[in-house]
Amino acid sequence: MQDGELSIAALVEYSRRVFPEARITTWTGEGLRDASFAEIGDKAAQLAHALTKLGVERGDRVATFMWNNNEHQVAYAGVPAMGAVLHTLNLRLSPEQAVFIINHADDKVILVDASVAPLLGKYLAGTPKVQHVIVTNGPKEALEAPEGITVHAFDELIAGEPTVFEWPEIDERDPAVMCYTSGTTGDPKGVVYSHRSIWLHSMQVNSSSGMALGNADSVLAIVPMFHVMSWGLPYAAMMGGITLVMPDRFLQPEPLLQIMAEAKPSFAAAVPTIWQGVAARLAAAPQDISHLREVVVGGAAVPPSMIRAFDELGTRIVHAWGMTETSPLGSVARPPFGVSDDAEFAYRVTQGRFPSSVQARLIDDEGKEQPWDGESAGELEVRGPWITGAYYSPEGNVSDESKFHDGWLRTGDVATISPDGFMTIVDRTKDMIKTGGEWISSVELENTVMSNPAIAEAAVVGVPDEKWDERPFVLAVVKDAADADVEKQRAFLADLLPKWQIPERWAFVDEVPKTSVGKFDKKVVRAEYGEGKYQVVDSRS
Ligand code: AMP
Repeated sequence: MQDGELSIAALVEYSRRVFPEARITTWTGEGLRDASFAEIGDKAAQLAHALTKLGVERGDRVATFMWNNNEHQVAYAGVPAMGAVLHTLNLRLSPEQAVFIINHADDKVILVDASVAPLLGKYLAGTPKVQHVIVTNGPKEALEAPEGITVHAFDELIAGEPTVFEWPEIDERDPAVMCYTSGTTGDPKGVVYSHRSIWLHSMQVNSSSGMALGNADSVLAIVPMFHVMSWGLPYAAMMGGITLVMPDRFLQPEPLLQIMAEAKPSFAAAVPTIWQGVAARLAAAPQDISHLREVVVGGAAVPPSMIRAFDELGTRIVHAWGMTETSPLGSVARPPFGVSDDAEFAYRVTQGRFPSSVQARLIDDEGKEQPWDGESAGELEVRGPWITGAYYSPEGNVSDESKFHDGWLRTGDVATISPDGFMTIVDRTKDMIKTGGEWISSVELENTVMSNPAIAEAAVVGVPDEKWDERPFVLAVVKDAADADVEKQRAFLADLLPKWQIPERWAFVDEVPKTSVGKFDKKVVRAEYGEGKYQVVDSRS
């Protein structure tokens, strides 16, 4: 057989040549602004020329601080195709995390959306290695940058550059894109996707055991491009000639439904929180969404009631599981042929089956592999060509034992697997709270809460929340009874945390339950919360 490198450049050229009619279309708040794949390819080449002039070389990191839109797709295409590495920065990071990540990844250039430029501006004093910032969708004056950083406007920068770029030959195992996870303890960790891993993953996204997408589809990509590459959709779209509808910064249920009414997408992807909001809005203002053949939902467990609610609306929810470390497609719940309606539903609520390229096993506390009997639980470990083998570090990649086990990725998810290979997540070993699709490290939150001198000790656990899936609950001990005041505690955190991370639910006790070795016993805290043992004060009520 012949051989050839699986490269992003090849995908860019293919999509441009073969699917001139496929489109990337972005919501402006009033309407859609459109670009064909041919135009995206032209701009990708222009951006590559402009970046070369700014001194970007092979392997250099070019970051984005952007919403899902046409310009972000241009960066997705042009930056890896020229041999540089696209680093997508999460817009919801705390300032400390953002500064840490920009420095750790050694970002040289950052593309920023004008609407979030003031936010980025605050970080740049702490990121001395950044040389250029390129402002998209607005004037360069949107950003006030410290001395030493040159600010450009995207349109002006690429104007007049040739629409063809001699893409360099690359090794398919070279880095193409990187994305940071939130750290369970300490700092966020970088995952680096290669050209090859992205190519293979895109094939899986489009395959019938994945999202089953093709040239006749139009996909509303709600999951952010800064969150595991929008679940791989930008590259799967190039491969399959799939039209992508981008919501930009309009992520509330009302504009999302407006976008649907206008663009009539056949498919969509987002976390459960988004669909909960959409369902609530639909109840108040009915609208036909049956143009959505399927929506893939993951990032957190999908409640069975949500699957039923969307069935009634004529839209089928497909439950999927994945992680930043798994590119992210890890498993997809597609029931087998010929089962009864009840059995089919039971398959659909699981996290699904693993594709042929992803191997999975369950490991118990003693390190013993568990059978696939649908009952024995263990930590889920996976391996495969789009599963990360290490975390990025400038000093050399790290694959420490807490996260990797003989070449398998330890997911931190506790699961069972049925004899016919359907996985169900039953618990989580990592001490993280997932709220509205974004993570809060409970350990970091505890430390921030305890940085208040009024607090003697505080444990934080995730508790179920109707709107956000999970929210943090703080069990605190105060030194002076007068400080057992939720509003006082929240006011202290206001300057230290992004608003969405500040806990609403608090209880004040004499002592936080501890394990035999004196650690906070979060299992007990969680259980006692569930049993209603604490007098919880909720700042929302
Ligand atoms: P992230 O790296 O932010 O994408 O988060 C990955 C983690 O989200 C997984 O390890 C799980 O803990 C959780 N997760 C993702 N998909 C699901 C799902 N379908 N059901 C339950 N948890 C999920």
